[in-house]
Amino acid sequence: MSATAQPSTSLLALRGVGPELARRLRALGIESPRSLAALYPRAYKDWRQPQTIADIVRTALLRAREPADADSSEVITVGRIVRVSEVRARVPIVSAELEDDTGRITATWFGRRGVTGRLAVGERLFVHGRASLRRSRSAMNAELNVLHHARLEDGQRYRGAMVPVYPASKELPSRTIATLIERNFEALGALIVDAVPGPVLEALGFGSLHDAWRTVHRPPTPEAAAAARERVIFEEFFALALAAARKRAQHRASGGAHALAAPPGLLARFEGAQPFALTAAQRRVIEELWRDMGGPSPMNRLLQGDVGSGKTLVAAAAIVLAAAHGVQSALMAPTEILAAQHARKLAPLLLPFNIRVDALFGSVGARERSATRARLESGACDLVVGTHALLEEDVVFRELGLAIIDEQHRFGVAQRAKLRAKSRAPHTLHMTATPIPRTLAQTKFADLDLSILDELPPGRTPIETYVLRESRKPSAYAFVRKNIERGRQAYIVAPAIDESESALTSALAELEHLRRDVFPDLRVELLHGRLPSRQKDAVMSRFARHEADVLLATTVVEVGVDVPNASVMVILDAHRYGLAQLHQLRGRVGRGVARSYCVLIAPAERAAVERLDILAQTADGFIIAEEDLRLRGEGEFSGTAQAGGGDLLGSLVSDFALYMRAKAAADALVAADPGLARPEHHALRSLLDGNADARAMFVSS
Ligand code: ADP
Ligand code: MG
Repeated sequence: MSATAQPSTSLLALRGVGPELARRLRALGIESPRSLAALYPRAYKDWRQPQTIADIVRTALLRAREPADADSSEVITVGRIVRVSEVRARVPIVSAELEDDTGRITATWFGRRGVTGRLAVGERLFVHGRASLRRSRSAMNAELNVLHHARLEDGQRYRGAMVPVYPASKELPSRTIATLIERNFEALGALIVDAVPGPVLEALGFGSLHDAWRTVHRPPTPEAAAAARERVIFEEFFALALAAARKRAQHRASGGAHALAAPPGLLARFEGAQPFALTAAQRRVIEELWRDMGGPSPMNRLLQGDVGSGKTLVAAAAIVLAAAHGVQSALMAPTEILAAQHARKLAPLLLPFNIRVDALFGSVGARERSATRARLESGACDLVVGTHALLEEDVVFRELGLAIIDEQHRFGVAQRAKLRAKSRAPHTLHMTATPIPRTLAQTKFADLDLSILDELPPGRTPIETYVLRESRKPSAYAFVRKNIERGRQAYIVAPAIDESESALTSALAELEHLRRDVFPDLRVELLHGRLPSRQKDAVMSRFARHEADVLLATTVVEVGVDVPNASVMVILDAHRYGLAQLHQLRGRVGRGVARSYCVLIAPAERAAVERLDILAQTADGFIIAEEDLRLRGEGEFSGTAQAGGGDLLGSLVSDFALYMRAKAAADALVAADPGLARPEHHALRSLLDGNADARAMFVSS
């Protein structure tokens, strides 16, 4: 193979590609010969051996008892025509009785004008079709709905193969793609660059990518196909893991951060200032953070912890260390509700250290804002908590040493970078309350160090969760009433509908219903994302002061709401949410000492109920997150989908073990040659520099 060939970058340079086919390829995201060379089959049809007719009939009979997907009933066979009948209607139907040594079957062509009058008794045919059963008056008959056929000469053997199935569209079927790849096989193969160094491959028992590419498209056996596929996936994973390893190495080497060593005794002093003992997890994580912050390379760490695990306290500890060295901290949150709550919760934790919390967001008055800006610039302010407002040009720090980004996935890459750019190299702490599955944490977040708060403070009673059918909503509301009569409060999460306009409409309708029919004697308030933030805050404060009994809310309650007296949450349309999101929602209750409940309302379909049942069974956010990922796939996984990486042949879930092997190899390579400067690593470096996907997918890009 040749890595130096200068390929034409135009699809038109390929044999058999004209403007129309080029357009269809582009519509599938294939822009160049190189991207066609990077297209791999998603599956195969094993057409090496035609099935006997008796076999097809037997399988069709068996399958009739259980529904099967259309794909799995596709078969191929070879038979001789013993009878032909044609119906020449508007939709012509041609039927032929096919026979081999084992039996007979009726093959039917629907609406295929080209077949009419072309079939003759005695001819041998290869046919590919869907087998099904047809019930006639007297018996069950197996039938083949023909998709494709070919005539075989007498004595001509059927030459079968493993047939690759490519990601296709209606206007560009897999078979056309297969033909295109076959016609340009050598030219496309020449575009495959073997960049992974030989010793790495040898150690893992892998061959060249080039060989694997050939085999993936023309596998002799299913086993060969699987092995070649694994080799291709290894290449993808190795590139991702290498990009992550290199990014971390660059980050470590960049230096320039304030080295904020923790003075002896600070942890004891910090703990002594709190009204409770730290959990072991909090202590461990604070030490992880402080160790990072003590070095000259900027910290770049992701703090994960379930709702209620006490992340605020950990953030406070980092802020205390920064302030002890006279550098400033900034905490950026995605919404005002959340920013305000952080400010409120941090203030008492920081008071013993003489750290004042300044707030900077939209609804803070202009005069106060400009005072805060002045304090930031002069260095009088140790900590500012805010929203995107922090990113504005006129927010200038005297010495920003620590940037904390809460719910980091709700900010774009550019926004996160903008906050960090307010200083040379601030230590950065990303926080999220969405537990990230281990698999994703090792891949999409591979450029960050991870800290996990995997322990809840003592004294929490787990939230009892129930799944109820739609028709039992009245009993859920009766349960809400009972709790309110005991002095508690309740959340009702409004029915979810996709477009926000109708979501509001249905929330308003539910509000009407609750106020008029269900709780006419209780105080019901509505909170939704379209309220002006002043009004949102007013509603929240009334609820927090127990001036309302029921808060009907859209998912804006997901983050930032902390009302310990609220002990019940009813989630309407629960089946519309991801498990991780539901788990996060229900974390709004169970914040006080009272026993807390979450009632999930969903349609009676078994699948919906089974999925939701996981929430009733476990309170472990990480288990729930893994399950969510497994059920919904990477793209859907709430809050963690990042740009890039979506078109991998491999799955970070099912091929995770392979990813870990690739990662180990990539880490070792970068440890030995952090700059990929050795000659044998040049190909790798240019591969990475040309791989925007691998670069774009990381948090600190
Ligand atoms: P998170 O932000 O992770 O959801 P918070 O930081 O808001 O959690 O903490 C949740 C609640 O737990 C708060 O009321 C906080 O005061 C309390 N808390 C935090 N750490 C501890 C601890 N070690 N022991 C007891 N209570 C704690
Ligand atoms: Mg919190």
